[in-house]
Amino acid sequence: MAYDYDTQNIFAKILRGEIPNDTVLETEHSLAFNDIQPQAPVHVLVIPKGAYLTWDHFAAEASDAELADYSRAIQAVIDKLAIAPGAGGEGYRLIVNGGKAGIQEVPHLHTHILSGKVLGRMLPG
Ligand code: AMP
Repeated sequence: MAYDYDTQNIFAKILRGEIPNDTVLETEHSLAFNDIQPQAPVHVLVIPKGAYLTWDHFAAEASDAELADYSRAIQAVIDKLAIAPGAGGEGYRLIVNGGKAGIQEVPHLHTHILSGKVLGRMLPG
């Protein structure tokens, strides 16, 4: 499978320190930061530090350490923001857009963590 990763994408620039970000949390293989155009009171993006285009790219080629780190980083954000229903929080939604049908705007894998209000139905209709 060929994955056409663009090293000039905005999240690659954030990872190289070329543009700033509002960091929520950083781990060995992952970075979490606030979305620049939040769609909810809580809107955090979690990205792997490796050059992965989409979830399927990451799942196919990331190391076990990267995969474990990424899922733990997402949970670490959920814990830090105290939004997990199991921990008394109000709940959250995770979204990973991939490719054209998913309307992925930034071509570097990212998981949206949304919370802070009732988010509405998952898809219109
Ligand atoms: P997606 O449509 O899933 O690719 O989402 C891309 C997200 O990246 C959008 O929610 C944007 O608001 C967000 N975004 C774009 N540029 C930046 C940036 N420099 N810092 C933080 N978030 C950004």
